[in-house]
Order: sequence, then structure tokens, then C-alpha cells
Amino acid sequence: MTEALYFLDCYLKEFEATVEKVNDNKFVVLDRTAFYPESGGQPSDTGKLIRKSDGVEFQILYAGKLNGDISHEVASPVENVSTSLKAGDKVKGVIDWDRRYMHMRMHTATHVIANVIEKEAGAQITGNQLGLDQSRVDFSLEAFDRDKFAEYEKIANDLIAWSNPVNFYLVSRKEAEEKLSRLTTLAKGFSDEIKEVRMVEIEGVTIEACGGTHVKNTNEIKGIKITKLQNKGKSNRRMYFTLVD
Ligand SMILES: [Zn+2]
Repeated sequence: MTEALYFLDCYLKEFEATVEKVNDNKFVVLDRTAFYPESGGQPSDTGKLIRKSDGVEFQILYAGKLNGDISHEVASPVENVSTSLKAGDKVKGVIDWDRRYMHMRMHTATHVIANVIEKEAGAQITGNQLGLDQSRVDFSLEAFDRDKFAEYEKIANDLIAWSNPVNFYLVSRKEAEEKLSRLTTLAKGFSDEIKEVRMVEIEGVTIEACGGTHVKNTNEIKGIKITKLQNKGKSNRRMYFTLVD
């Protein structure tokens, strides 16, 4: 199982690792990685792997989970197999920080705004998808009063402006399930065999089980703006938001 370095240090931009295997001359599994694999509505990191022996760079387009491992997709497989990455190669990994950091801000903002519409409107969050330009939160809500969302946006921005620290710690899965009435949609990244769950606490706002990447203080989010509200039939609603400086 790949050691997930992003799990305990979301600010890690570079790391050293060893190639464990390469599938189809294209999908690289390392012993450890800081690349976040797509999950829980958060897109994967991109970046590069640099082979230590000769400095050859391999662009990474995508990272995904594969049977407990994290697989890195190399952009263009090198024609000559002898020059492609192989098991045992030492590499330096570098993630595209601007992309990751935007996802960290978007992700943490999603915790805040989702929590506000849960508490204030009584909505039930059903899904989310983060993006670089905008993110989406899906929720279930019978009485959909669009005018209220300007108020929810303001509450969220006030919480963000309070510079609340974001903490995380590990608890047993059993303990987490007892403590929490629910595991949020943001927690879908956990697979069944995982015995320890990471709790993410935004002080004064929310505490949830979540495996994604977060900023360490809400002031890094800066602010949010709700850009679109949609009716998706019955009680299903969709909200889009962007980040503002
Ligand atoms: Zn999260």
C-alpha cells in the first residue's frame, strides 16, 4: 500500500520515492507519494517525477487509487522501454502546487459553505465536485428559498474571515462512527479496510471525517461567492461557488 504523504502534510510539494512497479509502461506505483489521487470530489494532482540517476522528467497527468496503491499516469510513455521508469528507480516527485493549493482552498471552503447550508437551511449534502474555477455542492432541500443564499454566503464569509485554524487528527473508524451521526460525502475517499479515520476540524465551524487536502487556516480561503443555484428536480438542488480574494 502506497504511503500517502499528502495525508499528514498537505503542504508537501516535493518528495523522494522509489518506483515499486510500472503497469503498461505508463502507470507508476511508488512506495510513497505526495500526489493526491482523485477521490471524494477532489480532482487528482498533476506534476512530474524526475529520475535521480539521469534527471529525465516524466510528466504526471493523473493519480488514482488502485487496490490500495496510488497509481501515477505518465503523460507519454517513452518509446524505448529501457528508458522508461522501472521498479527500483529512485525519483523525486514534484506536484503542481498552484493547482493543488487552489483545490485545498476550494475543499476547505466546501466544508464551510456546506456546513452553513446544513445548519441554516436544514439541507442535506449529497455530493460535491471541486474545480479550479468553480466548485459545486449538491444538496437535498424541500423549501428552496434562493433569496436566503446571499445570507448564507455572508455567514460563510464571516466564518472564513475569523481565521479559524483547521486541525486534523486520527481516530479509530469505530470511534469516528460513534462520535458522528454521519460520515460526510467528503469522506467517500475511505475504503472499508481503513481502520483509522482522519477527522478534520475547522475550529468553531465543523468537525468531519475527511481524507482530502485542506488549508491550515480559513483565512487562506479568503472568501467565497455563490455564482449559481439550480433546481435538479424534486428536492435536489445544486450550488456553484467561486473563490474571491
Ligand atoms: Zn475535507
